[in-house]
Amino acid sequence: MSFKLWRFKGGLPSLAKGKKTASSLAIQTAPIPEELIYPLTQHIGQAAVATVKVGDRVLRGQLIAKAEGFVSAPIHAASSGVVSEIAERQIPHPSGLKGLCICIKTDGLDEELPASPIADFRTLEAAEIVNIVREAGLVGLGGAAFPTAVKLGIKSDAQIKMLIINAAECEPYISCDDRLLKERAEKIIQGVEILLYLLKPEQAVIALEDHATETYQVIKTALDENANSAIQAVQIPTIYPTGSEKQLIKTLTGQEVPQGKIPADIGLVSLNVGTTYAVQQAVVEGKPLTSRITTVTGEGITTPRNLEVRIGTPMSKLVAFCDGYTENAERIIMGGPMMGVALTDDAIPVVKATNCLLVPTKKEVVLEKQAMPCIRCGQCASVCPASLLPQQMYWYSRSDQLDKAESYNVFDCIECGSCDVVCPSHIPLVQHFRYAKTAIKARNAEKQQSSHARDRFEAREERLAKEKAERAERSRLKRERLKNKAAKAEIAGSVERSNEKRQAKEPAEPLKPVAKEP
Ligand code: SF4
Ligand code: SF4
Repeated sequence: MSFKLWRFKGGLPSLAKGKKTASSLAIQTAPIPEELIYPLTQHIGQAAVATVKVGDRVLRGQLIAKAEGFVSAPIHAASSGVVSEIAERQIPHPSGLKGLCICIKTDGLDEELPASPIADFRTLEAAEIVNIVREAGLVGLGGAAFPTAVKLGIKSDAQIKMLIINAAECEPYISCDDRLLKERAEKIIQGVEILLYLLKPEQAVIALEDHATETYQVIKTALDENANSAIQAVQIPTIYPTGSEKQLIKTLTGQEVPQGKIPADIGLVSLNVGTTYAVQQAVVEGKPLTSRITTVTGEGITTPRNLEVRIGTPMSKLVAFCDGYTENAERIIMGGPMMGVALTDDAIPVVKATNCLLVPTKKEVVLEKQAMPCIRCGQCASVCPASLLPQQMYWYSRSDQLDKAESYNVFDCIECGSCDVVCPSHIPLVQHFRYAKTAIKARNAEKQQSSHARDRFEAREERLAKEKAERAERSRLKRERLKNKAAKAEIAGSVERSNEKRQAKEPAEPLKPVAKEP
């Protein structure tokens, strides 16, 4: 079946480099580490809250932190052991800051909580499926880590036209979704069927970049065997960043998600292929999210490959399992070379969003060159897939004119790094945009805090004034009551006095003579 495709603005062609080395080998399961580390913030939204304490024994699949609020996700232990610490540890974040983590000393027994598989998901109500997804701790595994239940819990009257399964792994080096599709296509298709049953779209599209021809054939064959005509695999041009949600939507539908809206507002839902697999695991097999596929790659790794990793495993253990670092290993990045986060330490754990651990050599890294002044060439704007003006945003971010940076829609920047790649002045533009976003958020939070403090102060003043008025009213009423009482008493007294006077003036009644007895 042919499929009409569209071209999004900007982007960089042919960034499929470095994928083959890891994607040519089958997924292997990484061993259980001696310690599992779980940052409580590993998803978009509110941090989870620990439900265990130091000394507790936990089993694989057991809840160790519950979701806090609507946009949040629970966390489950990936193996059995004892909670050894709940403390600040280094977490994978661009700030390099520490975050609260639950640490588990594993016991090697890998005992698990009994799973609750479901033979036929069609016996479930839509709300029950969303609840299973929520309780299983699913988040977007493509790197965004947005809680999946929130994405799926759209209004029941929403008309979804298309479900998009995002297998367009557009960053160089990353191949975890590719391997997953090659090895577990049937389970992914069952995941798509669950989503079809839940969202009732007219069609579902599994989108892959056109360089992944072998994987496309695998999924096509699996779809032919499945014979579900509502699901279609579509090859899309390899243009970076086609795997970003908005760019993929534009490519497949020609539509643009309006600013401030979500895809569901225009009848679309898109889910990463790894997340779709996790939906199948949660709903059909009753398993919470405790592991994921991670690509461990780069010329700084001796044997690059894709691993099935328990979430919480320190990155150093993955490197060791892939035969260690090569001599020229230069740095460690979580994610790909375009959007990844440089890590300070390999003791940092794999989190739900860890799709790749990249260890490049000096040769592979485009070493930071001395930034030169902007020459206003406009190349950054011509490649920007979000139709932004990076040179303007840079100017205002750099000079701390944050309102201006915001008015140039810095929050629409998807941090794809395309502008960095083409800038002839080697300006680290994305760094400036990240800084601006963080500074604006901090400023807004501060404003909100002071506005809350003002609201609280005003409410207190109002309450005190009200209490004062009530007190004044009570004493006025009391005074009035006393006055009335005194007046009544006065009246009663004067009546009595006038009675007495009257009685005093009136002569006493003469005594009647008593008649004598005959
Ligand atoms: S590409 Fe670099 S030099 Fe050219 S306009 Fe953009 S920021 Fe300036
Ligand atoms: S990093 Fe942001 S500004 Fe630069 S090209 Fe990508 S979306 Fe545009």
